[in-house]
Amino acid sequence: PKPRVVVVGGGYAGAAAAKYLKLWGGNAVDVVVVEPSSQFVSCPLSNLVLGGSKTIDDLTFSYAALKKNHDLQWVRDSVVAIDTEHKKLILGRSDFGYDKLILAPGVDFIYDALPGLESDAARKQVPHAWKAGEQTVNLRRQLESMPDDGVFVMSIPKAPYRCPPGPYERVCQVAFYFKQHKPKARIIVLDANPEIVSKKALFTKAWADLYPGMIEYRPNSVVVEVDVAGHTLMTEFDSIKGDVLNVIPPQRAGIPAQLAQANNIDKRWCEVDFLTYESMVVPHVHIIGDAVSAALPKSAHMATSQARVCANAVLAALTEQPIDTSPVFANTCYSYVSDHMAMHVANVYRYNQAKKIMLSAEGGGVSDAPSELEADYARYWAQNIWSDVLT
Ligand code: FAD
Repeated sequence: PKPRVVVVGGGYAGAAAAKYLKLWGGNAVDVVVVEPSSQFVSCPLSNLVLGGSKTIDDLTFSYAALKKNHDLQWVRDSVVAIDTEHKKLILGRSDFGYDKLILAPGVDFIYDALPGLESDAARKQVPHAWKAGEQTVNLRRQLESMPDDGVFVMSIPKAPYRCPPGPYERVCQVAFYFKQHKPKARIIVLDANPEIVSKKALFTKAWADLYPGMIEYRPNSVVVEVDVAGHTLMTEFDSIKGDVLNVIPPQRAGIPAQLAQANNIDKRWCEVDFLTYESMVVPHVHIIGDAVSAALPKSAHMATSQARVCANAVLAALTEQPIDTSPVFANTCYSYVSDHMAMHVANVYRYNQAKKIMLSAEGGGVSDAPSELEADYARYWAQNIWSDVLT
């Protein structure tokens, strides 16, 4: 029988890994994908749903072409346990063995440190909208029904979290919506970090230039409790009332990585060998995407880059070929500051033999200023990555 590689998660990392395993491995391997969702919903560009220039349908795609083009076995289910010793995966409705396991589970939210948000009902009233889909639509509806002079309060967790510039792009998008429809509304940003985590100067300037007087930014503001009924977020010293609350909880590697006990860094992230993405603590289990340690930024671009290196290394191991010992890849993150202007941060990462990590090379950086041209680039970037992972 052919070796079986099971990929858990059909998000950016998992979909790309499955595709390249078959593209490069052909008939030498069977590839099985386990994914509970019937459709792919893109987090990139989902802040534009809050701004009103995209709908969630624009960002929702079928898996049909990916499955068909690459002859993938697809199991629509969730992993509920992993027996790494016997190389066995237990799903909700079935179980099966693997020769190699690739976990691409994205992030899991840590609600333990957020009393008040224990129940599903509370999490609906105070959405995270940090996994695109229902939660995004829910937050958009809340913004639409907010009083015209209302206050939107958003909280950002301490880094590392999924998509470093994402929260600040969200502030721009909500401000863009308010500017058109509720110019008297205000935004309060409670950031657990000491300063804006990504593209600081660019975001600060964009807020001041495009949305003057609308945004109040408070650094070092860790939310410690949520009073859902009272519409209030509590930090250590303050309570901040708002009409619409958006709490982005702290994050850790998705549940399948926890089930495999591969989240060995602070019980949150997975330490991997950057040549293979094999876990440093659980043999034959590879981890890619947002679940990987904070050494690399948690982006969709990064997730697909890691997926290709991992797919290549897994195939090399199965066919006893040498692996690539000097991987190089890039990462670009665009942020839209309105419906038609965007800016970027971009870096090239190379494997450093001495440190055994991916290091960003000289010459990376950020835009001089947001522009319409970069909004075109951002749109093409999205079309390209969707076509890469979904066809
Ligand atoms: P995901 O894409 O989340 O995929 C994980 C998959 O695992 C999911 O499909 C899930 O259903 C599945 N899964 C979970 N649990 C189980 C289980 N038990 N069993 C089976 N399957 C399971 N990145 C960029 O590069 N550019 C951007 O412009 C950008 N903008 C963003 C804006 C926002 C608002 C947000 C929130 C994120 C943004 N990102 C962006 C980041 C990007 O979305 C993530 O880095 C990317 O999705 C990570 O890919 P992943 O495959 O690791 O995780």
